Amino acid sequence: MFENVTVAPPDPIFNIFSSYLKDESATKVNVGIGAYRTDEGKPWVLPVVRKVENMIVNSPDLDHEYLPLDGLKSFTDASAKLILGTNSPVILEKRYCAVQSISGTGAVRLGADFLKRFHDKTVYLPNPTWANHQSIFEDAGFTEILEYPYYNPKTKGLDINNLCDNLKAMKENSIVLFHACAHNPTGVDPKEEEWTQIAKIMKEKKLFPFFDCAYQGFASGSLDKDAWSVRHFVEQGFELLVAQSYSKNFGLYSERCGCLTVACQTPAKAEAVRTQLCKINRTVISTPPAFGARIVSKVLNDPELYKEWVSSLKEMAGRIKLMRRMLFDELINLGTPGNWNHIIDQIGMFTYTGLTKEQCLLIRDKFHVYMTESGRVSMAGLNTKNVKYFANSIDQVVRMT
Ligand code: PLP
Repeated sequence: MFENVTVAPPDPIFNIFSSYLKDESATKVNVGIGAYRTDEGKPWVLPVVRKVENMIVNSPDLDHEYLPLDGLKSFTDASAKLILGTNSPVILEKRYCAVQSISGTGAVRLGADFLKRFHDKTVYLPNPTWANHQSIFEDAGFTEILEYPYYNPKTKGLDINNLCDNLKAMKENSIVLFHACAHNPTGVDPKEEEWTQIAKIMKEKKLFPFFDCAYQGFASGSLDKDAWSVRHFVEQGFELLVAQSYSKNFGLYSERCGCLTVACQTPAKAEAVRTQLCKINRTVISTPPAFGARIVSKVLNDPELYKEWVSSLKEMAGRIKLMRRMLFDELINLGTPGNWNHIIDQIGMFTYTGLTKEQCLLIRDKFHVYMTESGRVSMAGLNTKNVKYFANSIDQVVRMT
């Protein structure tokens, strides 16, 4: 029966994490996985999440009934408003639908499954992108998945001219995936004027935008600023998909809490799309999980709790920015060969250091520093106690190679 089954290749990120766990060195550093850590290197349950969690668990009305196929309505409505903006024309004219998903990954997959059924076109992904994007679209059955240039290794910034030229050459109606903010893995986002330029070409070429938003609030500390790209496209009249994740900005990694929001031309179309998304949910997950959605819903719908959340978000974004500054200063003090400005120019959870694969393997072997072979560093893994050691390790590896 299973004669033809071979061992699947390990997931690069989870594989690095398990090697890190096995490492017995006292100075080991984990900058592989994208999960927030405190300055003590510990996971952080946001105080507002802890508070609401207790409220939910202690509520006499708590039950474990199924949610509807499209999830918890107070959660999905609030999610759509969070990403599109309360005063978005799409919200005011009720021409959207929002369906709960298994976190951000599930939202991308739900969107891909939907597009495969109703808009089976070429998909363009940024190069580089989150490693899972390619596999998700492949598994959803897309046969033409291409890349568009995004990152310029020379400038360690956005390759805007090449990106725009590529958009102009795409087939009409193609699907173009964007990271709404805090691009993973590069930490490089288009500036507002660059998003404007991108939207203009997308409109001329009738291209379809699919935003993946896994870091709203994490990039800049401002929820509105990090949603600018999506809102700009909506203002320009696009129909679009947005996959939202609450893993990072609520620290709800294991609760698998996410939402797929779709902006449509009319309320009737939005309702049709909603029912199709429900139909997909029904066969894949039947109904979404409630606990994370209940937490997020309570926070997003209560002004006081919302304020507490925003302050924690700012704290997380601020700590990451501080780590960027400290790492940069350490490398400058050491006189490490190369230009390191990108560490403070890039934003969000990740820095694309520019270290080569060889250097990434060497830093793991010699210094017990775990990062992906692409040179991506999760800044959340750094803290005031290990940043000096980390900078020294980079310095030595750069000088050795
Ligand atoms: N999309 C991007 C760009 C990401 O970086 C991530 C997480 O690393 C996700 C989606 C999915 O996150 P999750 O499924 O954990 O919410």
